[in-house]
Amino acid sequence: MATLGNPQNTIEVLQKYQFRFQKKFGQNFLIDTHVLDKIVESAGITKDDCVLEIGPGIGTMTQYLAESARKVIAVEIDSNLIPILEDTLSAYDNVQVLNEDILKVDIEALAKEQNEGRPMKVVANLPYYITTPIIMGLLEGEAKVDSITIMVQKEVADRMQMTPGSKEYGALSLAVQYYAKPEIVANVPPNCFMPRPNVGSAVIRLSLYEKPPVEVQDSKYMFQLIRASFNQRRKTLVNGLQNGGLGLTKDEILAALSEMGLSEMVRGETLSLEQFALLSDILQKNHNI
Ligand code: SAM
Repeated sequence: MATLGNPQNTIEVLQKYQFRFQKKFGQNFLIDTHVLDKIVESAGITKDDCVLEIGPGIGTMTQYLAESARKVIAVEIDSNLIPILEDTLSAYDNVQVLNEDILKVDIEALAKEQNEGRPMKVVANLPYYITTPIIMGLLEGEAKVDSITIMVQKEVADRMQMTPGSKEYGALSLAVQYYAKPEIVANVPPNCFMPRPNVGSAVIRLSLYEKPPVEVQDSKYMFQLIRASFNQRRKTLVNGLQNGGLGLTKDEILAALSEMGLSEMVRGETLSLEQFALLSDILQKNHNI
């Protein structure tokens, strides 16, 4: 039975070990059992699954995951939490804690070693200061991941789901939607954490596609275009791409826009993923002639 997940037991553990929260590690521990149940339920974990948990903290969610999964690999950067985790997870023999920085872990090698190379499920209450690099690493990396169910800042969860035309639509929306189907499964207020964060949070599930929803010759090139387009928001796409360091001339960009039936005044934030894919194929073909 999970013993953590409520304020009283959390305070007890923190006091026993005289744990001091480190702001630089984005430490906001969950203290709400309903939210924990919801995360584990929406991740759809079964006894077949190997789960990668990023940042177990004092092991609150890890206990819930250990009860539902076959195996849990929990990667925690803060060495002060390791003795606490040994204590709070002592009843579980299917959990392995690694004292490492997730951004430096070779997740593909981990999956090979721990799950015979089969896709893992990633579940985490993420440290908010590195949300984007963690998500991009998981999406773009070589490691096979089946789904990613994560607690993030509400505003970031919204951005992942946004479609063209909205203010929050950007490079993150396009990257997430190229690799996965995003779905917000819960909104979580600050009082579900200790200490309370200054922002609202949300749990979002990203179900990874076996095959991206759009076809593009060179997805790396498409993402370079996307980044260049959003680097200079509120400017025209022509401007953004011309100054994007891709060596494209104004004429090349105008010709591609005309081929797509788009105005030369069009802005990047109005283009859909399909349109970026087409633009990428046209520009690459013409540029290489
Ligand atoms: N899972 C716990 C919970 O829900 O109560 C803790 C979540 S807390 C928001 C984020 C956790 O990630 C902290 O334990 C923090 O120390 C850890 N962390 C921060 N940066 C990390 C990194 N680069 N690699 C691994 N863990 C990290």
